[in-house]
Formats: sequence, structure tokens, C-alpha cells
Amino acid sequence: MKEVIIIKLGEIVLKGLNRKNFEDRLIKSIRYRLYKAGEFKVRASQSIIEVSPVSEDADMDEAAERISKIFGIAAFSRACACEKDIEVIKQSAAEYLAEHFSRISSFKVEAKRSDKQFPFTSPQIAREVGGFLADSFPEVEVDVHEPDAVVTVEIRDRAAYIHSESIRGAGGIPVGTGGKAAILISGGIDSPVAAYMMAKRGIELTAVHFASPPYTSERAEEKVVELLRRVAAYSGRMTMYTVPFTKLQEEIRDKCHEEYFTIIMRRLMMEIAQRLAEKNDCKALITGESLGQVASQTIGAIACTDAVCTMPVFRPLIGMDKEEIISISRKIDTFEVSIQPYEDCCTVFTPKHPRTRPVLKTVEAEQNKIDYMPLIQEAIDNVKITEIN
Ligand code: ATP
Ligand code: MG
Repeated sequence: MKEVIIIKLGEIVLKGLNRKNFEDRLIKSIRYRLYKAGEFKVRASQSIIEVSPVSEDADMDEAAERISKIFGIAAFSRACACEKDIEVIKQSAAEYLAEHFSRISSFKVEAKRSDKQFPFTSPQIAREVGGFLADSFPEVEVDVHEPDAVVTVEIRDRAAYIHSESIRGAGGIPVGTGGKAAILISGGIDSPVAAYMMAKRGIELTAVHFASPPYTSERAEEKVVELLRRVAAYSGRMTMYTVPFTKLQEEIRDKCHEEYFTIIMRRLMMEIAQRLAEKNDCKALITGESLGQVASQTIGAIACTDAVCTMPVFRPLIGMDKEEIISISRKIDTFEVSIQPYEDCCTVFTPKHPRTRPVLKTVEAEQNKIDYMPLIQEAIDNVKITEIN
């Protein structure tokens, strides 16, 4: 008897021509993510992926935790894998489930036979195994309507699998199958959630963060690194570019009308992010904006920001309420970090009365008061690179 993890793939993508690409990517992600949990064999068979421990130090709890965060997985189970022989299956089930059965009072057995060579039908398997378990654990009753546990026996290509719990996977599409995009990441609540949401749609991430020392601190940047680490548990590794933004912000403050500080700053952020994105083979930008949340997130302000963008800008939170965003940030474990109070460059020179309906021509005229091109270049030349694993 051996414990393995069996993984069920996301259904939708499986049906298309993408299947092979999807599966290969997913296996690659699983291998990579399990690297730190010990030595495992990861292989596809029919519509599942089997993960089996190879070495003594392979940590199954850690592996299950890591697998729960990989996109492209609909569900997974820790299961006992055994020989496809009905007697072996019964014995293995009793042995494997003994601990679990000591904590429950009723069960039922369901069987799935994808290997049609197996000499018992699904109902026969369920009856055989159910009967054996009922005899082995007289204090646990069979209840087909509302059982405490549903024991599943699956007869597949490689082996028979027995498990009593199916755990919901992270869903989505394997990271990398959707191309690459650059997330503009602040230390706030929203942008880490936006990053997570696009990774879920198969996007591989590159991160761009703007820092304005001494107005923003070293700690503010460390906070962003910590947020990205947590996002990376889902999205996989990424490169973070920290852009020195102080000079541009001081120029805006010194030369532009206060009402336009934020909007001009955001346009410059997009310009810089876009250049870094292009260099890194990213085909889109991602932000954590939500319509109407602040003055720079009105339709008019977004239009002025988008006017400088030549690549698509994904704003996955655009139609979400703060409460909805917070609930995702709690789920992905970024909330507690996001609410630590460190200054972001966005809040350094905030106007008292920002324009909520800016006119593009006026914004451009204000922005043209500064000679921003050389400053953009200088900022890009001085980015700091941090690898997030
Ligand atoms: P967040 O919670 O992500 O900070 P927010 O609601 O506070 O978002 P803003 O601060 O106006 O809104 O920022 C809007 C978006 O601009 C952010 O979601 C993020 O994508 C980007 N952004 C803001 N500040 C920075 C920064 N310092 N570096 C990189 N991107 C930033
Ligand atoms: Mg913010």
C-alpha cells in the first residue's frame, strides 16, 4: 500500500486542442512547486495526474498544501494506490482508512472503473469493498443518504486508488499557458489580488514597483516583496523591477498643477511599466484599479491613463467592491501584509482636490511642462531587480 496524490484537471480546457500543452505545463508547474517538499514522481495517466513520493523525506502534507495553490487543478485527493485485485483493494482500503474510520460513524462506497478490463463492475466493486469495510469496522454504519464519509474506489490504468476526500483545487488555467504580463504592484490590498486573478487565467507574471525614497521607506519595498512571495505561491516565480520614481514625482510636484499630480504620475507609471514589459516579453499590463474607488479610477481618469498605453491593460478588479477584494486577499493570505502601514509613492504628493473628470488635452499640456523622456530613461536604467521565488 502506498499513499499518493491524484489530481483531476480543470475540465474546460481539457476538451480543446490545447490539452497536451495544458497538461505539459501543469506537470512542469507541479514538479517545480514540489521540489521543496521532497522527491516525487509526477506523471499523467488518462485524465489524472499521479504524484507519488519517491524518497523517505517526501512530505505529503507539504505537497498537498502546495498542490492546492496550483492553477489548472479542479480537485485532488490523497489516496492509497494498490494493485488492481479486488482482495488487495479490500485489505488496502481497510488499512488505509482505519484512522479516518475511528473518527466517523457512517460511510458509503462509490466506485469508478475506467479500466474496463477489471473483472468487476462499479456497483460490484462498491458492494464488495463496502461489505468488507462494514465487517472490519462494526461500529461504523453504511449510510447511502447522508454518510460522514464517501469512500471512492477508482480503477484506472496504472493502479486502483482508494480515497475518502476530494479537495477542491485552485481552479483556473496553468500559469504560462496564457502568455506573460506585467503587474503594477503597490503595497496595497488591490494589486496583489489583481496579480493572483490574472495568474489564475494562465498569465505568467513580471512585477513592476515604483519606489520614491526617501518619501517611501525600505520597509515599504520589503512589504511588496513579501506580498509578491505570497502571490508567487500561486503564480510561480517572477522577477520584480523596482523603479526609482523620486525625480519624476518631484518634477511633477514642482512644475504641474496640483489637480493633475496623480493622473500624470499614473501616466508616467504606465509608460515606464510598458517599456519594462516590452523588454520582458510581456504582452499586457495589469493593475488593481476598481471603478470609482478613488479619483484616479473614474472612467475619465482611466481614459487619460490608457491614452499612453500601447498594450492592453487588464484590470480584473474593475467591477468589484472593496469587500469582495478583501475576501480574496484574505484567502490568498496577502491581507495582513497589505494593511501594514507603509507609505506608497501614490500617497506622497496627493492633491487635496484631484480632477475626477480630467480633460486629456489639459493633462497632456500639464505633463509637457516637464521634460519627462530623459527622466523615464534614467528611471529605467536604474531599476533594481529582485527574484521572487
Ligand atoms: P492598491 O491597493 O493596489 O494600492 P489602490 O486602490 O490603493 O490600489 P492606487 O493606489 O490608486 O489604488 O493604485 C492603483 C493601481 O496602480 C494599483 O492597484 C497598482 O496596480 C498601481 N500602483 C499604485 N501604486 C503603485 C506603485 N507604487 N508601484 C506600482 N504600481 C502601483
Ligand atoms: Mg494604493
